[in-house]
Amino acid sequence: MDYQNRVGNKQGGGGLASSQETNAARRARVRELLSQGNNNFIETDPYVFRNHLGFLECKLCLTTHVSESSYLIHVQGKKHQTNLKKRQFQVEKANQQHQNQQDMINGISNIAKKSYIKIGTPAYQIKKIRHPVTEQLGLLVSCQFLRIAEEVKPMHRFMSYYEQKIDIIEKENDEVVNDFQYLIISAEPYQNIGIKIPNKPIVRSADDENEGAGLWDYWDSDIKTYYLQFFFRGL
Ligand SMILES: [Zn+2]
Repeated sequence: MDYQNRVGNKQGGGGLASSQETNAARRARVRELLSQGNNNFIETDPYVFRNHLGFLECKLCLTTHVSESSYLIHVQGKKHQTNLKKRQFQVEKANQQHQNQQDMINGISNIAKKSYIKIGTPAYQIKKIRHPVTEQLGLLVSCQFLRIAEEVKPMHRFMSYYEQKIDIIEKENDEVVNDFQYLIISAEPYQNIGIKIPNKPIVRSADDENEGAGLWDYWDSDIKTYYLQFFFRGL
């Protein structure tokens, strides 16, 4: 990547570009993206859809765009980037709230936490799945904790990119670098496993739109296997 001429580049700090220069740079970046074959973004970007008139609409900013390149220009603009950050913040807050509730239900508190001598990571499998009805993409994870400590039940949580690398985000403010999050699964005395997954909202509990796609986990203590299944919203 050309770091010198990148949009929003802060290195060197050669003064602010005029808005005309900025637009020219954006258009150049869009041409570059399209020439690299990035024009299948309509399938991968959860916030864009083609309306009945054939125009592209941004669900985040409620804007309409006549062409793919004008949408791509919009995506790099300040408005969209701000809305994107807001949305990610909301998603993380919701995830965190859910986790807090989960922790309370599981009766976990920091006071009750014991310390264990770690024994390495467990054996685990990840399978990509598709919901038979909603067709949403998801994952089925199974972990074997043969040497799990007594009275410990495996737990999971989703950890955002921001939680891990906040310093890097601040350095690269204009770059979308946070397109993944981590799924953490823990069961003492094993080391936590962190699985890199796309940074898309996860269906926590099923609603009308996501019928039957709610997050599900199960600890089978007989065969010491933990199962976790979930789907990504709107995929
Ligand atoms: Zn937008």
